[in-house]
Amino acid sequence: MNNSLKILIVANEIVPFYKRGGLGDVIGALPEALRKIEVDARVIVPYYNDIKNKYHLKEEGEFEIDFDSRKDRIGVYSALSPQAETPVYFLENKQHLCFYNVRGKKKKIEQFVFFDLAVAHFIKWVSEHHKWSPSIIHCNDWHTGLIPLILKQKVKLETPTLLTIHNLMYQGRGSLRVLDLLDMKDEETEELKRGKLVTEINILGEGLIHATRVSTVSPTYAKEIVSKDDDRRNIIYSFIRRREEKKLPDEEIIGILNGIDYNIWSPVADELIFHKFNVDNWEVGKEDNKEDLLRSLGLQNKPTFCFVGRMAIQKGLDVLIKAINHISHLDVNVIILGSGDTRIESSILEIAKKFPWVKAEFVYSEELAHKIYAGSDFIIIPSRYEPCGLIQMIAMKYGTIPIASRTGGLQDSIEHGENGFLFEKGRSIRLKKTIEHALNVWKNKEQYKKMVEKAMKTDFSWDKSAVLYKKLYQEMVDKS
Ligand code: ADP
Repeated sequence: MNNSLKILIVANEIVPFYKRGGLGDVIGALPEALRKIEVDARVIVPYYNDIKNKYHLKEEGEFEIDFDSRKDRIGVYSALSPQAETPVYFLENKQHLCFYNVRGKKKKIEQFVFFDLAVAHFIKWVSEHHKWSPSIIHCNDWHTGLIPLILKQKVKLETPTLLTIHNLMYQGRGSLRVLDLLDMKDEETEELKRGKLVTEINILGEGLIHATRVSTVSPTYAKEIVSKDDDRRNIIYSFIRRREEKKLPDEEIIGILNGIDYNIWSPVADELIFHKFNVDNWEVGKEDNKEDLLRSLGLQNKPTFCFVGRMAIQKGLDVLIKAINHISHLDVNVIILGSGDTRIESSILEIAKKFPWVKAEFVYSEELAHKIYAGSDFIIIPSRYEPCGLIQMIAMKYGTIPIASRTGGLQDSIEHGENGFLFEKGRSIRLKKTIEHALNVWKNKEQYKKMVEKAMKTDFSWDKSAVLYKKLYQEMVDKS
């Protein structure tokens, strides 16, 4: 890969080392797909203690940065990802980069301001020590949003930057005073005073302004976030508008659909499920998985609907709860797996107490998630918005039909009536009706079989999207 594009992908999580949600899956799989098409992609993430406790990584060296008027040491470690040997770098700092879950908003902002500064310096370090100079820095989500500005103004590097938004609603908002930590001069911070409150910094917003290109994770979400229909009260839209108003092709937010990694998500090779199966023997395979899953949860053998995901407002659990109340006349099971907001968890618990056919597990469990994908008939995804969503793609591979809100990446990956069902977002009555319709399809074995097989055969591998990223990187390099 001597003369190939060199891409440094920056994020705060990567499968298998550290995963919080879909972003970890994406950062694990995208570089592998890129390397298959001759793009020299490498990844950099913080070296959290959770990673240290599980992996023994190779020490590569160290460098220093100036942060909060003192010198801080950054250790550089590395590993190869298990499948395609993507080099992954880990930045260590005992004060700022040990835990993802630092307490307090201020500390969290500080943590990622620190990480972004460290990454900017790492780029110089890796060019010097590993003779590897990235052609593009590919930033992901708010945690990496200050990198474009720091590169331009503090480290004085012209390397083009791509910012990919995986979720617009997490922005990294905090006091502008965090910039003192970077020792940014008045005229430099002037660039940043774009929030409603001049005392506030919005890190994702700064990324939106300063990145060379901006992308997001599905074509429909890319349209939704610039459309007039979206809820525009959120401060982030003032940043989006600034890009839009320039009306230049490079300012356009491009949407590239995520894929999933079939090395991890494939019922034929999945070690975590009760019985392996493929598209030729799914009927018996799913039946066996379902039986074991239901037995382990103390449920009877009935059509089974599930939910897997973070307990967050975005995921529309309020809509699901209302719909469950509307479907109490049906003879079905509902299994809910998720963790997060404790208020949402409490309302789920209430509905689970009310109906014995509703089972809720408030844990983060890879194993249970795999078993649920394999053993359910349908998965309900009632998201209020969904930039891409991987859950529907995973479920389809396991022959579990999605019933999802017509929004974002759900709309881009599900063909209504073919490999899944879509309903109007936020509407519990519509969800109830779609569940009833899905149940009728399930009873008509031929129709159901056709849908399951179509879902299992739908291709969500990264291959197509990796080509689109490569094209975008190349365009950026050509213009730089
Ligand atoms: P998001 O990134 O918004 O959380 P996605 O649909 O993109 O949603 O990805 C969610 C990923 O996290 C999937 O791989 C899913 O299996 C996993 N996941 C979510 N909640 C849990 C949980 N409680 N236990 C295990 N895996 C989970």
